[in-house]
Amino acid sequence: MPKVHILPERVANQIAAGEVVERPAAVIKELVENSLDAGATRIEVEFRQAGRELLRVEDNGCGMSREDALLALERHATSKIAETADLDRLGTFGFRGEALPSIASVSSFTLQTRAENTDAGTEILVEAGRRARVRDCGRPVGTSVEAARLFHPVPARRKFLKTDATESAHLVQCVRLYALACPRVAFTLIDDGRVVFRSPQCETLAERVGEIFGRQLAERLLPIEAREGGLRLSGLIGRPGEGRSTRHELMTFVNGRPVDSRTLNFALLEGYRDSLPEGRYPRAILFLECDAAELDVNVHPAKREVRFRREDQVRGFVIRSVLTRIREMGADLAGTMMGGAVSAKAAAERAGLGEAASIHGIPGSAFARSSAGGPVSEKVAPARLGEAAAAFGMAAAGIGSAFAKASADEAQGINATREARVRTWKFLGTAHDLYALFETPSGIVLLDRRAAHERIWFERLRGQFAAGRVPGQRLLLPVPLELEPISAAILLDSRPFIEAHGFEIAEFGANFFRIEAAPEWMEPADAEPFIRDVLGELREGRLAPGKLDLARDELARLAVSRAMRLPAAGGAGEMEALVSQLFATESPLVSPGGRPTFVEIDRAELARRFQRA
Ligand code: ADP
Ligand code: MG
Repeated sequence: MPKVHILPERVANQIAAGEVVERPAAVIKELVENSLDAGATRIEVEFRQAGRELLRVEDNGCGMSREDALLALERHATSKIAETADLDRLGTFGFRGEALPSIASVSSFTLQTRAENTDAGTEILVEAGRRARVRDCGRPVGTSVEAARLFHPVPARRKFLKTDATESAHLVQCVRLYALACPRVAFTLIDDGRVVFRSPQCETLAERVGEIFGRQLAERLLPIEAREGGLRLSGLIGRPGEGRSTRHELMTFVNGRPVDSRTLNFALLEGYRDSLPEGRYPRAILFLECDAAELDVNVHPAKREVRFRREDQVRGFVIRSVLTRIREMGADLAGTMMGGAVSAKAAAERAGLGEAASIHGIPGSAFARSSAGGPVSEKVAPARLGEAAAAFGMAAAGIGSAFAKASADEAQGINATREARVRTWKFLGTAHDLYALFETPSGIVLLDRRAAHERIWFERLRGQFAAGRVPGQRLLLPVPLELEPISAAILLDSRPFIEAHGFEIAEFGANFFRIEAAPEWMEPADAEPFIRDVLGELREGRLAPGKLDLARDELARLAVSRAMRLPAAGGAGEMEALVSQLFATESPLVSPGGRPTFVEIDRAELARRFQRA
């Protein structure tokens, strides 16, 4: 039997380094955290050859005495906590006391530091975990740490590094995250001698976003702010309909710490579910603040993950806050774009005076018939928000409905302002039959007629479904429907659901049916393919009549995308009426499938394109 022995400190550090610093970006993360913990207001980060050659972080923080600096390189040496209970009131990024010795054990490491009120600084050189030299050095108050030739003492680790492009991307992303977390600290990032970004101290997060991602992005994001029971949410989120193909622009922070939190990511995606197409991710820079005792940060050696003690509470809070904000965005826009003549009409519609709409020559009587245009937003939205709350373990009778009530009040307020504004979209023409062009005070707008039409009808149908009144039409010629056995069985099972939504279907013979009535809004010729689509969705489980509210949403979504014909493009009257109908909906910015309903190009952008100074 081999003899048991304690590992030498240097080996233990190299092993720990495997978890704490698995790649160059992780080294930078630890060093930047140390600088922030030291109270720095200026941090400079430099790397060369994707961090293989050199990683350097320099700060103007409090610095260290020689004694402290020597101690800091020992394993489990920290100035930040003294006992485990301190983790419940943690106010620093670091607490494990592992970073410096780990980094020093796998690189050629140089620490230079000077504390206030000391004459000389200290320089310590460590070569692959062996202390090589300690001497005086001149430097301003603060600390500089260099890790050169990372992982050279453990060549196997070098092989795990990805391409330079990948490692550099991780490095840049890492520094950006801390720059966002601490806008009041000036940050500089240098890659092979080239400045990636240099941001002075910023007053606000939005300013910092502009500094490191560019003004244009900063302007596309909108602030969010919410509080509830000891939780606070703040930051910037993207507009509905403006999604990304990856999650890279979804950044979350908990108590100031950049984290990868499944809870927060899930809640964000859930909040945007109806506002983005499937497979698209929202943009967000989201900060959650909570009591330190509600949080476990010691889940991951690199402190990347956190765990919430009351996960349901956090999740519900974030979902509701995001939903509310998205709804406000739509209402804000509606407020600036609507009013005057249109709002009189909207009011008339709400009062059930459908004729007001037909004066504007909307084709068919469809728009005029529906007095649902207005009320849908008031009735449906709060119920849905309440639903989301209930789904996440909120007592529906308590928080959920209180919230629903608040939303209803708020919706009325919004309508009042909407009516006070002057409508400002001027119709110019239609392109490719699909895009309606408008001039607005701030630029031009291209409206996707199909997306707008789908949104309006989606909410109208949802209103009809919820009210249980779906006007149907008897078909002059019943449409025969022959199905294969599984679809036939599904149809028989779900006939009550289908018939509750405007259809009548008679069975006559095995696998043979006849559609005898279809919803009024539908072209009779579309009834059969639509029923087949519905059966397909039922079969795949995307439509599940068991959850009635969700099933109705899904049915309405299917109806507008598959069976709703787009009327021919009309003149100014029709198009402006379409806009007013759109802005009377709950979510005017996106189609039910999450696509944007319109794109605005502002005058600054136009001037830029035409190179006007
Ligand atoms: P931790 O951050 O978990 O305490 P580290 O190994 O990262 O562990 O750092 C050890 C200690 O060294 C810190 O607790 C801190 O007192 C000191 N230290 C590290 N970096 C700096 C710095 N840039 N400025 C001042 N003190 C520092
Ligand atoms: Mg640290």
